[in-house]
Amino acid sequence: MKSFDVAIIGGGVIGASIAFELAGAKLRVAVLDRQQPGREASWAAAGMLSPAPDSARDYPLAPLGLESLKLYPEFVAAIEDGSGQSTGYAREGTLEIFSTPSGEADRDRRVAECRRLGVAAEPVTLDTARQWEPALGPAARAAAWLCEEGTAEPRSLMSAVLAAAQSRGAEFRSDCGVTGLIREHDRCTGVIAAGGEIFAGHVVVAAGCFSHEIAPEDEWLARNAPTRPVRGQMMALRPDGASLRRVLRSDKGYLVPRRDGRIVAGSTSEEAGFQRRVTPAGMRKIFEAALELLPGLAGAEVLEIWSGLRPGTPDDLPILGPTDIDGLLIATGHYRNGILLAPVTAKLVREWITGARGGFDASAYSPLRFANPKPKTQSAH
Ligand SMILES: Cc1cc2nc3c(=O)[nH]c(=O)nc-3n(C[C@H](O)[C@H](O)[C@H](O)COP(=O)(O)OP(=O)(O)OC[C@H]3O[C@@H](n4cnc5c(N)ncnc54)[C@H](O)[C@@H]3O)c2cc1C
Repeated sequence: MKSFDVAIIGGGVIGASIAFELAGAKLRVAVLDRQQPGREASWAAAGMLSPAPDSARDYPLAPLGLESLKLYPEFVAAIEDGSGQSTGYAREGTLEIFSTPSGEADRDRRVAECRRLGVAAEPVTLDTARQWEPALGPAARAAAWLCEEGTAEPRSLMSAVLAAAQSRGAEFRSDCGVTGLIREHDRCTGVIAAGGEIFAGHVVVAAGCFSHEIAPEDEWLARNAPTRPVRGQMMALRPDGASLRRVLRSDKGYLVPRRDGRIVAGSTSEEAGFQRRVTPAGMRKIFEAALELLPGLAGAEVLEIWSGLRPGTPDDLPILGPTDIDGLLIATGHYRNGILLAPVTAKLVREWITGARGGFDASAYSPLRFANPKPKTQSAH
């Protein structure tokens, strides 16, 4: 019977990036996916590489996002080199647009919030924003420039990561759904997959929003990897005049330029269980945000609409690290940021498995926070 140093459950951008990293450390790696790898959230994403927080709940995520953004150039160079494929990586920055009457004050608060977290941000005048992006709509009242942000094209990235990991010797098994963990005393020694046993020195759970339900009868996973699906709808447009170089983002939505001139517009954030449908209400929200940012898109061709399921978690933070079962690690719950966080996740998992000492403190994302939750502080009222 074949055994591996590491078995990874799930071949999305997270599982495949971990495989690439571990295979580079000469470990024998198997990635088990219940369908074709890379066809879930990682296929659906917009591809913004943005460590800027969406809300105060995201503040603890900023250090991880910044660390991963720093790793990105080296990560894509290694992936492109190993695969011979482009990842569509670009570092053109993001313009955040504020359209409310209090736009300038909102912008200044946002810039201060970003800077406090170490995210590069500066105010720019609307004249400058329009020089950079001449198609920007008249609703804009203020703009901020997040110069270090980038983009990757998730479907190209996914294809390249899979090819690069395979070229390093990682084995990918499609149609190989994992239904259980093999445990001996306090150690995980493998998985039940496609009805058979696969043994491994380490097992990594990287099954995105499905992580909590891999083994429905095993309450441990539901407790330690409490993921849930958060639906996001998306659309791709072929503009018939308006062009875009940088990401444009507002509190209503975003536009992400692709190298071939398409513009990807998103998104919704919906608690709809595992339902994947694209809805009129979702499309309306995206159209409204897109046309406010770039009215010249009104006559664009709608090329594609789709949805994906983000792996959400109870506190919106990823679940990363060793567990209280020897040999079992979790790398999931990357929610809105899995494309950004793939390089740092892969690096951390390699360090945990090989025992290499890295300098980054990832304890805030440990799965143990669910098993041993901090007591809630009493509210004064
Ligand atoms: C609309 C949308 C827009 C987004 N935009 C961005 C963005 O701009 N920037 C960004 O950084 N992130 C973005 N994200 C988030 C990002 O896509 C996710 O965080 C990331 O793709 C998660 O990757 P993953 O590998 O953990 O999960 P997935 O890509 O979902 O992969 C999980 C894999 O596990 C497999 N699997 C599930 N159950 C089993 C099982 N029992 N056995 C074996 N295999 C199993 C699945 O088949 C799948 O291949 C977006 C997501 C969506 C939906």
